[in-house]
Amino acid sequence: ESSRIINFGAGPSALPDSVLEEATKGLLNFDNTGIGIAEISHRSPEFTSYLSSVEALIRSQLSVPTTHSILFTQGGGTAQFSAVVLNLLARHRLLFPDLKDEERNLDYVLTGSWSKSAHKEGLRMAGKHQVNVAADGRIYSKDSKSFDIIPPHESYKFSKDPVLIYYCENETVNGVQFKHDSESIDKEGKSIEGTFPFHLLPKDKLVPLVGDYSSSFMSRPIPRLADHAVIYAGAQKNIGPAGLTILIVRNDCIVDVDAAAALGAQPVPVTMSYKTLADNQSAYNTPPVLAIYISGLVLKRNAELGGMEYYEKVNRRKMQTVYGALREGEEKGVFRGHVQPGSESWMNVVFVVLGEGKEKAFLKGAEERGMSGIKGHRSVGGMRVSLYNAITEEQADKLAAYMREFIASQ
Ligand code: PMP
Repeated sequence: ESSRIINFGAGPSALPDSVLEEATKGLLNFDNTGIGIAEISHRSPEFTSYLSSVEALIRSQLSVPTTHSILFTQGGGTAQFSAVVLNLLARHRLLFPDLKDEERNLDYVLTGSWSKSAHKEGLRMAGKHQVNVAADGRIYSKDSKSFDIIPPHESYKFSKDPVLIYYCENETVNGVQFKHDSESIDKEGKSIEGTFPFHLLPKDKLVPLVGDYSSSFMSRPIPRLADHAVIYAGAQKNIGPAGLTILIVRNDCIVDVDAAAALGAQPVPVTMSYKTLADNQSAYNTPPVLAIYISGLVLKRNAELGGMEYYEKVNRRKMQTVYGALREGEEKGVFRGHVQPGSESWMNVVFVVLGEGKEKAFLKGAEERGMSGIKGHRSVGGMRVSLYNAITEEQADKLAAYMREFIASQ
């Protein structure tokens, strides 16, 4: 067993020991070139071929169809808040050149602080375009102002032919997540509350659906992946170090942004244009070589372990273990979960420890047992336990055992 601290941090977050050990070798000598991975040219044949292999690993593990391209960039989820707006505004301009800006609609689904940030950036970028709230979880929250639930299907209002429909699959700060279809279908086979309302989207059109998967990418299969226009994620939760951003873009959304600008759309910075990335195999300028390397090692390991099927199973068990201990603490009046039943995140478990001074005691006890990173986000408070892929079942068990020990001591 590793002597390292168990890191339940929300990101950047834990990476597997075996990957880190292999990475130290690559730092000295990448692919038998005698040159380290942080030193080698991104145009070298060795790195170029490594980059293609990373793409192939993502494509096979997530079953990405040929209708979609896999692109690598930098700037994180935050840069994508702006980039999706600009690229999809360009697409909309080419599709509907005669509409006024006021007639172009951007629809945002608000379920937590990250979708709120994306919406805010949409408002900044959109000029005279219409920026709408398609649904808002706060309306259904326990206190009418927090984000603690996925809004019910009947509350969604989508525009006709929108520029984009944005949602955040997993809200890292608030611990709110959409469920899979397989978890959210009732006995008659109807989708029930909880999952994204894919059935409300038109079936005869290529819908510009944007999924922010920053904190759930590669933790389980992506439902209705083929129905998405853009899926994006920073690597720094489930996959690798910060600095790499992974995009899955449907090919009709990779458009000539300069042709759109000639028709009046906003110009798109060259590094943000999906077409620049696609036309240059994600190496128009220097890509984050080291982050791509380590992410590739993680993805190779994923494949050996059994891919998304493996992680879905393990991540479900980890989540059940920790929520199980949380529910016991709720019954005893020791803990209180933040999220309403049915909307709980598999990745980020958010709760408070009830009673004066008890959070400090809980954190101290965790630290004494070699567990760190569980203090909640400053905006929500309380505790947040992140159960990304590199957290093992044994580590989740250890945390649950400590939670029970703490409950018993109260
Ligand atoms: N979206 C989500 C869901 C996130 O969790 C994060 C980062 N925690 C972001 C966007 C922003 O990503 P970045 O810090 O990589 O820009």
